[in-house]
Amino acid sequence: MSKAVVIGTGFGGLSSAVRLVAKGYDVTMVDKNNDPGGRARRFTRDGFSFDAGPTVITAPYLIEELFALLGEDMKEYLELLPVDPFYRVAFDDQTHFDYVGDRDRLLENIKQLEPKDVEGYEKFYKHACEIFDIGYTRLADYPFSSWKDMVKIMPDFMRLQNYKTVYGLASKYFKSEKLRQVFSFQPLLVGGNPFTITSIYLLIHPLERKWGVHFPKGGTYSIVEALVKLLKKRGVEFIYGDEVSRLEVSNKKIHTVQTLSGKSIPADVVVNNGDPTYTYTNLIDKKHLMYNKPWLVKKMKQSMSLFVAYFGTNREYKDLKQHTIVLGPRYKGLLDDIFKKQVLAKDFSLYLHASKRTDENLYPDGKDGFYVLSPVPNNKSGIDWSKEGEGYFQRILESLEGRMMPGLRDSLETSFYITPDYFKNQLLSTDGAAFGIEPLFRQSAYFRYHNQSSDISNMFFVGANTHPGAGIPGVLNSAKVTDRLINNIKRPVRSHGTQYDASQEQR
Ligand SMILES: Cc1cc2nc3c(=O)[nH]c(=O)nc-3n(C[C@H](O)[C@H](O)[C@H](O)COP(=O)(O)OP(=O)(O)OC[C@H]3O[C@@H](n4cnc5c(N)ncnc54)[C@H](O)[C@@H]3O)c2cc1C
Repeated sequence: MSKAVVIGTGFGGLSSAVRLVAKGYDVTMVDKNNDPGGRARRFTRDGFSFDAGPTVITAPYLIEELFALLGEDMKEYLELLPVDPFYRVAFDDQTHFDYVGDRDRLLENIKQLEPKDVEGYEKFYKHACEIFDIGYTRLADYPFSSWKDMVKIMPDFMRLQNYKTVYGLASKYFKSEKLRQVFSFQPLLVGGNPFTITSIYLLIHPLERKWGVHFPKGGTYSIVEALVKLLKKRGVEFIYGDEVSRLEVSNKKIHTVQTLSGKSIPADVVVNNGDPTYTYTNLIDKKHLMYNKPWLVKKMKQSMSLFVAYFGTNREYKDLKQHTIVLGPRYKGLLDDIFKKQVLAKDFSLYLHASKRTDENLYPDGKDGFYVLSPVPNNKSGIDWSKEGEGYFQRILESLEGRMMPGLRDSLETSFYITPDYFKNQLLSTDGAAFGIEPLFRQSAYFRYHNQSSDISNMFFVGANTHPGAGIPGVLNSAKVTDRLINNIKRPVRSHGTQYDASQEQR
């Protein structure tokens, strides 16, 4: 039986492990943390538990098909609850917009804000669906291993105006500045700046409308637990609390995975859910690297980071929605501070997660649990979070208390926060980026880290840093791409990419 080692138990690693088991591999998973999930792990403090990261679950078919691959039914492991509204967008002037999946309700909400934009929305949606048909349906789970794959998509790219930015296209269709923000903030959920990211990312909106927004009973971590249970049942070995420190290579192939605790694990295939920049810089002797030299990969632009505060209260906030985007007074100016100037602004935009609104069993009667996140610059900024963190947290609490959570500071039973330092130190993410490399056009598809290493033929990347990108649907699709490539593992590596014959795919 061939041996596969999966580095990292994020959604990318877990879903790849399922696919490797289905192919008949003997799988060992290694994670530096003591628990699975990576960015989707669970924190527990003072009797409260919190999902650490993803909370907006879209495209559930991608999770269902993992269970089906191993002959199981997801419903035996997991219950996905619908979320309505998808999000509430709260503006700085105390008004709000409910972003819902139902077309008629959505049009009514748009009309309330700006009647002229109802027609604009219909055109916007048509355009976004055309982008979805190409950018998601045809390309999301498909490898970009050759520059020729890139050339093939250019006519569609031009026709669909993907040289424009997400905000640029939203502005074309909406007159209301508020609606421009409502229909352009989504790339922030995958680490992109709406003012620079290609409009391909408008596909997020049709994706949400097509399959809905969901939240698992028990929280997102229930999906992680379900996948771990499934994998254990099929004999997968999990090694926690041990970091992969070296990948031993000969003849362009990894033969042994070394860990900090001194384990040497032989491997025929390595699926790497860790950060490729970190991998090429720290884990492989540079004499084996022709294309991904450390000085070159360090030039990749990392995404923004996040400040995330978790808190439990001794009262409930039943008026809140599950997901609230709390916009501040500035939109473009704030994003410039985060992405371009890389400074910590005085104001902020927030995402507030109130999990009990969909799953009332998450906290006992009279108690409630939340997290609030704020996009912040990554560690290239030089911000000293040991000095800035507490003040920043207090300002966020004050703002939430004034805007939507009266009496918040007096009702806190527990609270703690993570900063870009967490992403750097706990998840080994370069520059403390929260979403891997930034989804710029020059770092997308063929220009993103290849799903099969161009230097090491039996190392495959999965997760946010590789095609198609961050976010749970992206990461689960990256495992599908990798799955297709592993079929071709015996083929020799050629130029800057792999020899992958797209015409052989059955789609
Ligand atoms: C706060 C937050 C909120 C988010 N909200 C959403 C959302 O609502 N919806 C959505 O779809 N997406 C969301 N995202 C994005 C999404 O969570 C991520 O894109 C996705 O979970 C990343 O999964 P991954 O498989 O790439 O890797 P990760 O989850 O980062 O896992 C990688 C794992 O590899 C391990 N590792 C790395 N290097 C080594 C090594 N050398 N040795 C051993 N182990 C190693 C790490 O410890 C980690 O466990 C959010 C992200 C964050 C941070």
